[in-house]
Amino acid sequence: MKKSRTLVRAALAMSIVCGGCDAAPDEAAGEPVTTTAGRTVTFEEFLGTVHQEADGVYVYDGDMSAYSIGELRQAWERMYPPNGALTAFPYNAYADDVWPDNKKLNITYCISNNFNNNKQAVINAMSVAGAAWAAKALVNFVYVPSQDANCTSANTNVEFDVNYATSTTTLARALPPSTPRELRTLTIYSVAFNPGTGWPLSGLLMHELGHALGFSHEFSQAGSSCTESGGGRPITPYDSGSIMMYPHCGGTNTSALSQSDMEGATQQYGSRVWTNAVSPGGCGHLPAGKGLDRGQTLWSCDSRFYLQHALDGNLRLYKVTYSPTGSSHTAIWSSGTANQAGYGTYMQTDGNLVIYTGLGRYIWHTNTYGNPGSSLAVQNDGNVVIYSPSGQPLWSTGTGGQ
Ligand SMILES: [Zn+2]
Repeated sequence: MKKSRTLVRAALAMSIVCGGCDAAPDEAAGEPVTTTAGRTVTFEEFLGTVHQEADGVYVYDGDMSAYSIGELRQAWERMYPPNGALTAFPYNAYADDVWPDNKKLNITYCISNNFNNNKQAVINAMSVAGAAWAAKALVNFVYVPSQDANCTSANTNVEFDVNYATSTTTLARALPPSTPRELRTLTIYSVAFNPGTGWPLSGLLMHELGHALGFSHEFSQAGSSCTESGGGRPITPYDSGSIMMYPHCGGTNTSALSQSDMEGATQQYGSRVWTNAVSPGGCGHLPAGKGLDRGQTLWSCDSRFYLQHALDGNLRLYKVTYSPTGSSHTAIWSSGTANQAGYGTYMQTDGNLVIYTGLGRYIWHTNTYGNPGSSLAVQNDGNVVIYSPSGQPLWSTGTGGQ
């Protein structure tokens, strides 16, 4: 109960921020729900490589299976991300590489005594770097000094060890969450302690902890001399101020997380700003003060349509077609907000439907504020409508008549 009240108050506060703001242009119904800009392979080209088995299962990338066009699209988004965004390391075709919920608030580490005279500086910089990621996202890095005397990659009392090695070229390295423990070392090399590297130690460790949280490099095709392969899912728009950039690739910041870094982290791990998104009750109706969290859906009461706040931050309306071999899910409308770190969709008590990032920044809304008590309906005719308390339609997706 306490969390619900907190959200409603937060939504009220946000509605003031968003009153009168310019809405992002809606994506027209029937258009592709994900932009192909910046991708090396369009979805249509990808579909040309897919074949469908007699039982309806789609087979792609040799031997990978998908059970709907929606799943195929997710697989394509992961296999061919646009360059430049804060990007999550892939765990497999469907999932990002992230710390699980039972570990993300207690990511423990030790710091090797081999740092000698530099050890206190490492302790301090790790504390600053960990606190930077934990300021807005629901993660905690926890230093366990009692393990320092035995701080090797074989130490399973901590999630990772911070160790020292010599190098004249590499500053530091770290690996994503799913890495086996015996390889999950954050290494700081000798050259990182020299002056003139361009990276304060705390900024360098913010970058490495970004890798440890599952983020890859934010290299851009625009104005950057660097490219990188390896796939991954873009989470945010391109940001040259990301800590996951390199200065020689066009990066402008080596000392602090950018807003998009923090918004990307809240996408993956949850937000300290939005303490909890509230899921809808029942079918077909999203009342004032309720919202859809990442991945949550609101179905029409005849189960033919559903509205989903997708993992990529896009609000999508799907039509489901049932057949003896299963069901296919077709997106018939979207908010056009994929990969902008949209954290949740909220039906505010002022009548506005708003998509916010994990920092409480709006990225899309229906411009229907000033109508307190309004609510949203996912109708059996395929239309999604916001109605005033007197039953007057204020906004719709324009997808009715199905
Ligand atoms: Zn890096």
